[in-house]
Amino acid sequence: MTREWYEDGLQFSCQQCGNCCSGQPGYVWVTPQEIQTIQHHLEEHNIQHNSNYLRRIGQQFSLVEKNNGDCIFLRRNEKNLAICAINQVKPKQCKSWPFWDSLLQSKQSWDEEAKTCPGMNRGKHYSYTEIETFRQQDKDQG
Ligand code: SF4
Repeated sequence: MTREWYEDGLQFSCQQCGNCCSGQPGYVWVTPQEIQTIQHHLEEHNIQHNSNYLRRIGQQFSLVEKNNGDCIFLRRNEKNLAICAINQVKPKQCKSWPFWDSLLQSKQSWDEEAKTCPGMNRGKHYSYTEIETFRQQDKDQG
């Protein structure tokens, strides 16, 4: 029996505003395996050495951001809705949004983030078990 504040689950449906893929500088970590998958999807070779897509931070790699803070893979459609150019193969950090430890630590943290992510607290309902699965996948990233 869980006593987490979100034990009844949470709602989330992305509204494609793009806020989480732009704005303040940040890191989107990618594992060696994810780099291989993205590389294959892009039909490119050795993107690890291609600064158009990846930047090295210590021993790890993060996706490149444009000067305006947009993720290098953020696109907009004709309705100005955000599209991820590598949606099928995006890193686990992106796939697990917004079910991150930092946002789930309290309802206050969750609701604070919901002010910038209009997809939170609306749409599809995720059960506690589904949320914990997302969290575990994110941890498995290593
Ligand atoms: S901020 Fe939320 S609603 Fe906007 S693109 Fe990101 S996940 Fe979707």
